[in-house]
Amino acid sequence: MASQGLQTTQQREQALLAPYAMFSSQSRGRQYSEADHPYRSPFQRDRDRIVHSAAYRRLSGKMQVFTGDMGDYHRTRLTHTQEVASIARTIGRALRLNEDLVEALALFHDIGHPPYGHAGEDALAECLEQDGGFSHNQYALTIAKELETRHQSFPGLNLTQEVLEGQATRVDKEAGDHHPLLEAQVVEAADSMTYDAHDVDDALKLGLVQLDEVHQQEMIKICVAIIGDRRSELGPEEYKRALIHTMVDCQVSNVLENAGPYLESCHWSSTQEVRQSDYRIATVGELANAKKEMELFLYERVYRHPELIKTRERAQSQIHKLFETFVNDPSSMPPRFIQRIDQVGLRRSVGDYIAGMTDRFFEQQYLGFVGS
Ligand code: MG
Repeated sequence: MASQGLQTTQQREQALLAPYAMFSSQSRGRQYSEADHPYRSPFQRDRDRIVHSAAYRRLSGKMQVFTGDMGDYHRTRLTHTQEVASIARTIGRALRLNEDLVEALALFHDIGHPPYGHAGEDALAECLEQDGGFSHNQYALTIAKELETRHQSFPGLNLTQEVLEGQATRVDKEAGDHHPLLEAQVVEAADSMTYDAHDVDDALKLGLVQLDEVHQQEMIKICVAIIGDRRSELGPEEYKRALIHTMVDCQVSNVLENAGPYLESCHWSSTQEVRQSDYRIATVGELANAKKEMELFLYERVYRHPELIKTRERAQSQIHKLFETFVNDPSSMPPRFIQRIDQVGLRRSVGDYIAGMTDRFFEQQYLGFVGS
């Protein structure tokens, strides 16, 4: 039988993964020890715990760049996350990395986003300035270790050290003695490829930018060249879809064409060597420069678009007001966040409560406790 010898996670990983991948058998385990699952690898279990968590479901109600009242075409934080996971898995599989770990890290990477995206994050950081600040990457760790409940005998999701550490390297890229595993590097690379492409798509659809100004970007010129003569066969909508698809595709190809041979040439035999190396999986060469230029364009023309600035200012002012309302009257919060005050302090507990809200729930709370 062809499947013989591939029944266990260990057998499958031995057969499929490159020596520099993170093998399940090498995992440093979980804070609270648990017996192995009969047929799911530790990283598969992490992925499942993340997917079944309340914080993950709430990503469907959190904005990526554009708010829910701007339409129903554009990405939410959840669909962004799913696109990142899809692209990261493609890269991870091609590089023979641990796909289960890649998927868990990808599905987890934005789980700590507060309502109203980076505007919400900046407002919470101001509210908590004297109390250690606020970062969505750090808050993801708080969710995983403290706020979610999976089992009555311990707090949090009890994820593997590899997932927690992968997220920790997002908090402070310079911190720690070790560099991130290749699986975490793939997620980092996939994240920016994904948002570059879908933010152009969404901004075009919403009419915030026009196709002719997008065409002036080097990244799009590269994509137009790849599409080549096929363009004449495509209708206007098909052509836009082809552009966005090609943006992802050319970046994935660039990474695979460069990282693939490089990793082969290193002859790394373990993650120990990965952790000691300064190498980073990323787009390189001309395309990397075009990507930087594209991101600057997105920043100036989309993220700083007057319509988004308006949303940003409103969200920030509302977050400040709701934050102070709960600080002055914590009894309006759910019992678990009132109890949490003893553990983390009043302002942090209020911040943790607000950060977990979806955009709509935040709006309701604001109208209920602060007013219009
Ligand atoms: Mg992201």
